[in-house]
Amino acid sequence: MSDAIDWARVRAAFPILDQQVSGWPLIYFDNAATSQKPRPVIEALVRHYERDNANVHRGLHELSRRSTDAYEAARATVARFLGAAHPEEIVFTRGTTESVNLVAQVWAERFLKPGDAVLVTAMDHHSNLVPWQLAVRRAGAVLKWVPVTDTGTLDLDALDALLTPEVRLFAFVHISNSLGTLNPAADLCRRARAHGITTFVDGAQSAGHIPVDVRALGCDFFAFSGHKMGAPTGIGALYGRREVLETMPPWQGGGEMIHRVTLEESTFKAPPARFEAGTPNVAGAVGLAAAVDFLEALGLPAVAARDDALTRHALERLESIPGLRVLGPAAPRGSLVSFSLDGVHPHDLVTFADTRGLALRGGHHCTQPLLRRFGVPATTRASFYFYNTPEEIDRMVEILDEARRFFAP
Ligand code: PLP
Repeated sequence: MSDAIDWARVRAAFPILDQQVSGWPLIYFDNAATSQKPRPVIEALVRHYERDNANVHRGLHELSRRSTDAYEAARATVARFLGAAHPEEIVFTRGTTESVNLVAQVWAERFLKPGDAVLVTAMDHHSNLVPWQLAVRRAGAVLKWVPVTDTGTLDLDALDALLTPEVRLFAFVHISNSLGTLNPAADLCRRARAHGITTFVDGAQSAGHIPVDVRALGCDFFAFSGHKMGAPTGIGALYGRREVLETMPPWQGGGEMIHRVTLEESTFKAPPARFEAGTPNVAGAVGLAAAVDFLEALGLPAVAARDDALTRHALERLESIPGLRVLGPAAPRGSLVSFSLDGVHPHDLVTFADTRGLALRGGHHCTQPLLRRFGVPATTRASFYFYNTPEEIDRMVEILDEARRFFAP
């Protein structure tokens, strides 16, 4: 695993990683749930609160100008990061969940009619499933889904038959948080577009891990969460193609999203302001821009290659553990590995690992239908980011093997 970047130096920028847990060096393999934050992101937050903090847009004083400039500069940074054509195509949200709910409420209110259908996949996170269930129920529409094959890929042979005239929107996960499957997003969008179907990509596990270019993907919407890519919690974004955002009515009402208000009625600003009622998470946006700058300084292709090398190493080393079964395809996949270990419940395994300073995650990973499809109530998941090391993976394998022997009947 050799390349031009000194990954040990990169890792040193993440202060939280340098600590002991249960008397052991911390090994943080819960990155798919949330990532750790590099010092430049933490410093950007501190600098914002120590120097620039004020409310945005409506102030005429220096600090408000600085905060507004930083907030709008962060929007431009996110637009560049996603390859969007215009900063106005970026709506700041709390993260992926809020982005999906925004579209499932606002877009669906305007475009979803009784008898229409929304297409999802059987591997979607609850965040990209439940809001659509609610949307179709409100509209009198129906939900359909693309099945998943035994190897953990989307059943693409079934797709064409599912792209019927009733389908108005196709929402799918870019990288599955449970299986690791990397879906062929550009191809899925192309096939949906050929039928005039609007597309929504859940990029929670792809943004910040692989290069993303929304125009190359050809999607109408793309959602991601900052906290999974080095930024603070509580900030993320929704990309919406300008022509689509402009057709959508407002979401929440309040300050900042209006032009003129009388006691009877209001007129509304153009996107993205139309969808950002109230005081936004200014510090979060500043932190998100700092995280994007950090990732872009490394280069997304280098981050993706590092993630991939770690994942390959894990897949190879995990083969040595008797009774361990990895879910999902061999490739292409994101930087996480979900597995079951014969005779050991994931919660017991994760608790055992914690006593050795190893942070894993066990459960249904907010994908209950998917795990039901594979006949397991839960899995154990190890998820990596570029600051992890092959040595940490070797140590994980030792700990898992120790657990296997500990729990053996
Ligand atoms: N979609 C996927 C694939 C995820 O992995 C997650 C979080 O784990 C989400 C959506 C929801 O993200 P958030 O909780 O940041 O809104």
